Amino acid sequence: MRPLLVVGAGPVGLAVAIAARLRGIACIVIDRREPPCDKACGEGLLPHGLKELAELGVKPPIAHPFVGIRYIDGERTAAASFPEPALGVRRIVLSETLLRRAKEVGCDVRFGVSATELRDQRDHVVLTTSDGEIEGRLLVGADGLHSKVRELAGIEVRPGPFPRYGARRHYAIRPWSDHVDVHWHDTCEAYVTPVASNCVGVAIISHGKLVSFDEALERFPALTARLAHAEIVSPLRGAGPFHQRVESRHLGHVALVGDAAGYVDALTGEGLSIGFACARALVDVVARDQPLAVYEQHYRRLTRGYYRTTRLMLALARRPALRRQAIKVLSRTPRVFAALLAMHAGYPMTRSTLLGRKSSSSISRLVGTS
Ligand SMILES: Cc1cc2nc3c(=O)[nH]c(=O)nc-3n(C[C@H](O)[C@H](O)[C@H](O)COP(=O)(O)OP(=O)(O)OC[C@H]3O[C@@H](n4cnc5c(N)ncnc54)[C@H](O)[C@@H]3O)c2cc1C
Repeated sequence: MRPLLVVGAGPVGLAVAIAARLRGIACIVIDRREPPCDKACGEGLLPHGLKELAELGVKPPIAHPFVGIRYIDGERTAAASFPEPALGVRRIVLSETLLRRAKEVGCDVRFGVSATELRDQRDHVVLTTSDGEIEGRLLVGADGLHSKVRELAGIEVRPGPFPRYGARRHYAIRPWSDHVDVHWHDTCEAYVTPVASNCVGVAIISHGKLVSFDEALERFPALTARLAHAEIVSPLRGAGPFHQRVESRHLGHVALVGDAAGYVDALTGEGLSIGFACARALVDVVARDQPLAVYEQHYRRLTRGYYRTTRLMLALARRPALRRQAIKVLSRTPRVFAALLAMHAGYPMTRSTLLGRKSSSSISRLVGTS
């Protein structure tokens, strides 16, 4: 049997590869870059994403727990917790941990190799790469927002109407909040995620192109003051435009997963969690030898909430008066906010979901060293 070919050794591509090997499927992964694979990301892993990683046997050794989300809009704040803890994990740590696990389970991962052409045959696919041709039973495009595989396969994509861009940087400072803090401004948002006991990541997402990270940061005086004396410990990374409306998740012997499969925006911080869930669904379809149309159905089910919530949040982000009003309401109704967060993270609406708080033991189970 020919192997599964995966283009993209990002978190989702590696999740596909590990899940495939755990089901006994041979797998080759290529990536045009060399490790460690860094990328602009808010680096928050939501509880459902952590469960997906645990299923793959992946536990990041350096991470920092956070309990929920706190919105900060001028003087007003609204905070709520997830039913279970979440984790901030630096992208390079996540990538290295996934890569180690992928090699442990026998994945063939090839770096410095780009996908350039593909030929879809009757019962397999031939991928031309910068390192020659490879044949596979199925080609998985896990190659990010501006997927080359999607283009080569001829799957239609249309940009969204309101282009948004993101950039990220890390600061050496002890995290001061046990939430991911989201600072709102009419032109952009700043997301502060604790990723280690001595480091926070700051991601800024803007309406339209970000002119300069420092200039955007100054729109948040309290945050700027906090970071004033903290050393910058990572290069600036950017991404965008985010919104990519993808016609279909499959065509012939090609399937798309992760950001390549379609993306709206990063403001709900769940791209990774959804990508991991879809990776598992895709591998399940391959292992059962089902048609890829079944994967499309899984994709739609797994991402329905993401598309709905993200569109709603984007509508608020673009309407400052409405956003301020919404944050005012959430600040007065923390249980409603917690219920919305729980729903967003895929929890059923039970009494314990609404009232439940995480225990320190469940936090320590998630974190290796911090
Ligand atoms: C500012 C910002 C903040 C975010 N915050 C969060 C957050 O807090 N939580 C969260 O869960 N998500 C967040 N996201 C989203 C998250 O980063 C993405 O959903 C996630 O990275 C998708 O992973 P992926 O593996 O699909 O793609 P990627 O991580 O983009 O990986 C794609 C890989 O494909 C490779 N590749 C591309 N083209 C080729 C080619 N032709 N040949 C070979 N290899 C190729 C690339 O080198 C890359 O390694 C954020 C995103 C941004 C931009």
